[in-house]
Amino acid sequence: MNLFQRFFVVLLGFALAPVLVTGIWIVNSNEAVRENARQFHQQVAELAADTLEGAAAQINRAMGFVEDLNRNAGKDPSLDTKIIQKAAFLHSSFALISLLDPSDKEVFKIANPQLFPERVYEDRSSDPLVQAVRKSGEASFGPILEREGMPLISIAHPLDDGRMLFIQYSLRNLWRRIKQQKVGRQGRLLLVDAQGRALPGLPEGFPEPDWQGLGSMDRPSGWMDHLRTRNGVMVGAFQHAPSLGIWTLSLQARSEAFARSDRFPVHVATFLFALSVLVIGGAYWLSQRLTFPLTQMIVGAQRASRSDFNQPVPELGWGELNLLSKSFNQMMGTLKAYQELQVDRIMEEKAKVEALVRNIPDGIILAGFDGHILYINVAARLILGVAGDYTTTPKDRQLHDMVREPALRDMIIRLLRKQKRSDLVELEIKGADGLSRGLFHCAAVAVGGAKGDIGILIVMRDVTTERKLDQMKEDFFHSIVHDLRSPISSIDGFVELMQKRADGFGDKERKYLDYIQTSSKLLRDLVNNILEMAKLESGTMKLEPALAQAPEILESIRKIYAIQGESKKVSILFNLGQRPHGLVCDRPLIERVIMNLMGNALKYTPSGGQITLEIGAVEAGQMEFSVTDTGPGIPKNQLDAVFEKFRQLDDGVSRKGGYGLGLAICKKVVELHGGKIWVESEQGKGSRFVFRIPHQMAVQQTAGTTA
Ligand code: ADP
Repeated sequence: MNLFQRFFVVLLGFALAPVLVTGIWIVNSNEAVRENARQFHQQVAELAADTLEGAAAQINRAMGFVEDLNRNAGKDPSLDTKIIQKAAFLHSSFALISLLDPSDKEVFKIANPQLFPERVYEDRSSDPLVQAVRKSGEASFGPILEREGMPLISIAHPLDDGRMLFIQYSLRNLWRRIKQQKVGRQGRLLLVDAQGRALPGLPEGFPEPDWQGLGSMDRPSGWMDHLRTRNGVMVGAFQHAPSLGIWTLSLQARSEAFARSDRFPVHVATFLFALSVLVIGGAYWLSQRLTFPLTQMIVGAQRASRSDFNQPVPELGWGELNLLSKSFNQMMGTLKAYQELQVDRIMEEKAKVEALVRNIPDGIILAGFDGHILYINVAARLILGVAGDYTTTPKDRQLHDMVREPALRDMIIRLLRKQKRSDLVELEIKGADGLSRGLFHCAAVAVGGAKGDIGILIVMRDVTTERKLDQMKEDFFHSIVHDLRSPISSIDGFVELMQKRADGFGDKERKYLDYIQTSSKLLRDLVNNILEMAKLESGTMKLEPALAQAPEILESIRKIYAIQGESKKVSILFNLGQRPHGLVCDRPLIERVIMNLMGNALKYTPSGGQITLEIGAVEAGQMEFSVTDTGPGIPKNQLDAVFEKFRQLDDGVSRKGGYGLGLAICKKVVELHGGKIWVESEQGKGSRFVFRIPHQMAVQQTAGTTA
């Protein structure tokens, strides 16, 4: 569901709820109106029934003269006449009083001449009421008929002597009251017989002309919700008046009774439907109006997140929303301007960098890990002899295919295969014509992007001149050092001579001679070391390998250092490690390495300390030599540096009459033997210098190319 749909549904829910409540309320109030109308009609019908019962009681009272007739039975016929005349006189409602003999023929009658003008006595034996009363022997009311517009009820009353009274009683007063009774504006009260037919003389043409009635009345009282007539649908209640055997019926047009038309539900439904349509339309419109600017802004923000600031969002909506769209567009404008500024700046920077890289004298190559060249500058193309611009470099040609020199190619492959992250090699590069392009220092490094390494960068620096200069310097330096040997020898010779003839010398002079001798020794050591180093570096140092035994080496070292240790109050342990103890090496050179390490250990270990020399075999056919001391130790970041030429630790403690060449020479010698040297140390916790060389040395005769 998107924003619009959610908003629309919620708004619709809120808006339709009152419509629904209104609908329920209308239906409920309609129920109440119906209930009121029903009760009202039932009360009217009951009241009318009570009135009928009252009329019946009145008729019974008027029939009191029957007693007189029974008392006079068989006595004085003229008295009967008088009794009847008196009753007729007292009760004007008697329209006819007939006295029937036992065969039901009239023997006397008194009647309203307007209603009964005929003067003859009739035979009433065929009258159904007379017959019924004869049968039952009980007085009974007959049907109500209309005669000359007068409602009359027949009454048959048997007398004790077999005669019978047949009476027509006027119900005019009762009828008038019934007729006058109105139910609402159009409703009327009716009386119906047992077949539900309206009794004559009551409201004409109501509820419709020639009304056929309700049909057989099977209940004493009841309510009709839908009585269809030609004058419309009616409601009504009926109530039985048992004395007269008739029912009162209160009828009223349904529309009037319920104060609404029959089409009311349709009207309500139409109204609610129209209201719902209006509400849905309104909710849709409002949702659209409110959410459209927001969705447009979301789309705009998504565009902005892709750095597309070109298309503004439509400035729609009311008030704050409109203001928001406007502010959003302003913000986009600002961002666009900033972006353009940035792009210009980046382009400018790019042009600068490109110009720099293009024109730099060093060769620069950037290649992906698949070996494809991503960038190659002019210098690199010239060095490697690659034709064309890097953009035209065929994609299927890989960098390492373009490099002829095996050392450089191997280094590139190592980096492309991610075996190393950085490497360097110094080599002479030759062109396709076989002529030298010079000596190049080639450094390669894996370069990373935001999501990891993207490839390798190779920088090729022409060091031909640099190396030539270095060589010249070295040569010059060595020739000076070499030339120093003979003056030093002369000094030594003369000092020795003077010491031999020092009889006339005082203490001062002797001390000065000692100083000269010590200094000259130091100078000679330095000169020797420098020359040795030069020999090692130039590859002119030749090894003379021979089988040697570790115990012998250990023993010769012990001879030299046991006494020195004692005089310095440093205990020295000489341990022979695992077998085999034999190894092929240039023994004098290896002993010098050990002596160098022992000398340093003695130099840096304070009195009371301890030095351990251990020689023994380790795995993989290696012989391990280690010199452990309890001296000041070496900082972690200097562990490799101590093996560099002229490198001394800059802590004030270490500068103890040396020149930083000893360990560099050791390293060279060990490497010439195909071995490795390193130091394990922690500052303040002593040092352990270790070197390993193979038992069966693969003699490396030159050390010239190893850095
Ligand atoms: P040097 O002739 O100056 O001793 P080395 O090459 O033998 O030159 O040693 C280089 C530096 O290494 C020394 O100056 C010293 O700082 C450090 N070093 C060498 N051996 C030890 C050791 N056993 N304990 C502490 N520092 C040492």
